[in-house]
Amino acid sequence: MIPMVDLKNQYHTLKAEIDAAVLGAIESCQFILGPNVTAFEQETAAYLGAKHAISCASGTDALQLAILAAGIKEGDEVITTPFTFIATAEAICYAGATPVFVDIDPRTFNINTALLEAAITPRTRAIIPVHLFGQPANMAPITALCSKNGLTLIEDCAQSFGAGIHGAMTGTIGSLGCFSFFPSKNLGCYGDGGLITCATDELAEQIKVLRNHGSHIRYHHSVIGYNSRLDDIQAAILRVKLQRIDQFNAGRRRVAHLYSELLGDIVTVPHEDGTGVHVYHQYTVLTDHRDAIMARLAEKQISSAVYYPIPLHKQDVFAKACSDVNLPVAESVASRCMSLPIYPEMPEESVRLVAQTIREALVG
Ligand SMILES: *Cc1c(COP(=O)(O)O)cnc(C)c1O
Repeated sequence: MIPMVDLKNQYHTLKAEIDAAVLGAIESCQFILGPNVTAFEQETAAYLGAKHAISCASGTDALQLAILAAGIKEGDEVITTPFTFIATAEAICYAGATPVFVDIDPRTFNINTALLEAAITPRTRAIIPVHLFGQPANMAPITALCSKNGLTLIEDCAQSFGAGIHGAMTGTIGSLGCFSFFPSKNLGCYGDGGLITCATDELAEQIKVLRNHGSHIRYHHSVIGYNSRLDDIQAAILRVKLQRIDQFNAGRRRVAHLYSELLGDIVTVPHEDGTGVHVYHQYTVLTDHRDAIMARLAEKQISSAVYYPIPLHKQDVFAKACSDVNLPVAESVASRCMSLPIYPEMPEESVRLVAQTIREALVG
């Protein structure tokens, strides 16, 4: 049996340290915005090279708080990719704004920057590229377009903790970066968690107020805010794992490169163009024989998954508003993509068995 991810393996490797960290947090009884949260925010800001890092309750909340802090409101348009998890678009809708979907690059699965300019209207306020599967989006043209048009650049880094491009970490290139610590993400906690990076004191201040009931000073409320904080227990776990994030991401890259070596002649393997460091939250290939491969893998007790089978403009919730939207690359990729098991500790024999099983499914 080969799972998509093996969280138990990692926990057992780190058990002594994680158990001690969790018990320490419980013992301190400072459960909300406690010392581990403050320390984790500082350590994350230092690791990423971000001016500010502010934790919150989930990656979805990170996007929502970033969008609100950017001043995005009803009637505004926000450009993003249709090939992502629904949360990217949900957060835009929470603010009353409209997601405008721009097609993707067939090789990186990230937003196609050549199509961005044509999607900008007088109502456009922001662009949210997603560093999908851990592969940094092509940031230079997006940054240039945002500066030229006065748009806020918000990075969805839920899948890209530790990924970089042109020497900068994802989350430090735009005005705001949004991270998720959902358990299966590259840096995951043992529940829900999220974080926002930003480059100005003003944005940081606004986000801190928004995540804590619109309050800067206790029981003084300046705006309608939210209850969106990272638990101190989760921060304690994340601090242990943050120390190993480079090692985890290197493990993922090792697995991915072996897959690509073994599978490059029979499926379309992920493309790395050399400008960024891909941290392989997912290892996703393209094939015209997805059903046959997945069936064969299942027979051998090997997990596989389709991220994502339906692009957002085709989802029931957006289909009506997007009835005249045509995004052929996203649609084609969604019909041909499949993701294989990947996690930092995945043994080489397992990678070889997955690849061999795919080869058997295709060439007998
Ligand atoms: C996981 C994810 C989110 C949401 O994160 P949660 O912590 O689950 O709320 C947002 N965007 C993308 C691209 C994701 O993969």
